[in-house]
Amino acid sequence: MRCIVQLRYGFRLYPTPGQRMALSRAFGCARVAFNDALRARQEAYQAGRPNLTGAGLSARLTAAKATPERCWLGEVSAVVLQQALADLDAAYRNFFASRTGTRKGPKIGAPKFRSRKDHRQAIRFTANARFRVLPNGKLRLPKIGDVPVRWSRPLPSRPSSVTVIKDAAGRYFASFVIRTGPDALPGTDAVIGVDLGLRHFAVLSDGRKIASPRFLRRAEKKLRRAQQSLSRKQKGSRNREKARVKVARAHARVTDARRDFHHQLSTALIRDNQAVAVEDLAVKGQARTTLAKSVHDAGWSGFVGMLEYKARLYGRAFHRIGRFVPTSQTCSACGIKDGPKPLQVREWQCPGCGAWLDRDVNAPVNVAMAAGLAVTACGAQVRPGPALAQRGEAGTLRGAA
Ligand SMILES: [Zn+2]
Repeated sequence: MRCIVQLRYGFRLYPTPGQRMALSRAFGCARVAFNDALRARQEAYQAGRPNLTGAGLSARLTAAKATPERCWLGEVSAVVLQQALADLDAAYRNFFASRTGTRKGPKIGAPKFRSRKDHRQAIRFTANARFRVLPNGKLRLPKIGDVPVRWSRPLPSRPSSVTVIKDAAGRYFASFVIRTGPDALPGTDAVIGVDLGLRHFAVLSDGRKIASPRFLRRAEKKLRRAQQSLSRKQKGSRNREKARVKVARAHARVTDARRDFHHQLSTALIRDNQAVAVEDLAVKGQARTTLAKSVHDAGWSGFVGMLEYKARLYGRAFHRIGRFVPTSQTCSACGIKDGPKPLQVREWQCPGCGAWLDRDVNAPVNVAMAAGLAVTACGAQVRPGPALAQRGEAGTLRGAA
């Protein structure tokens, strides 16, 4: 089965002061094109006229450029303006699909006006804008110039589009879209179940427990400190503005570090296994109660999304366990269900088969088995007796033996 996958490759840009001005003008023009089109659509709707289509909005834009109030729109690449209209169209399509239920996931609101104060400004160049990566490594953008790029890895093939982004921390990025088919990876017999949790970022059915790496924890700590410092600054003061930029930077670093970690782990799991199973996050959400934190959910869904597209890209199987599996209540060795256990019980003996089970590892083994993957339950089994006492956890076993 062949499928085309879209991959995004992000790189830091270092525009010159002149290029920054040109970019800011392009952001502004794209914003005006977007807002004009949104206003036109809203007015058509309120007047009971038919929806304005892409071609209609495009014609309006061309007409506007001929007027004295909007002639400056001609100073930027026409593709950038066309892509702003395409963004509006996509925003409306997502909104309608979400309202009628054809699109799954959280509800999407109606498109909103863009503002100069938005923390993220972006413009997109498609292939017919003739953007180009030059032999000297700079990115040539029409009506912007040749922008220096920090290439952290090579582009595997010719990109079909590039989005230039300015984030809240004032940094510039280029996000290239590469359309690619599945690459071959050597086949393997290994399969794995993954349980995402709060105690560990992930626990694998082979018994490995994966914590967030130190660089991510350090970035998170810095962010917390920056946030505390911001909350102590007086509203409207210059120090507060400085602290706000610091928080935005720290936030961006956490996001980057988290994405790097997710990429490393998802690539390793897909490379080393023929099939990967995870629990559906919506189902997981129901299973959790007060421990639920949207922060963690956000991190997980990004990671699961990577597993899914990389599985597709490399021809691996990806399973999402949709039905509710009480992963901590079912013995992964014999399948007997012996009821919920308090959280402090980390290890217990199965009343059915006598296996000693590790609570953390029992879950991913069950996830893998629910997906029909032939993992062994060995990873979930622990050595009973003195080993537990040595780890100071004997007290947690009360009532389990
Ligand atoms: Zn058992």
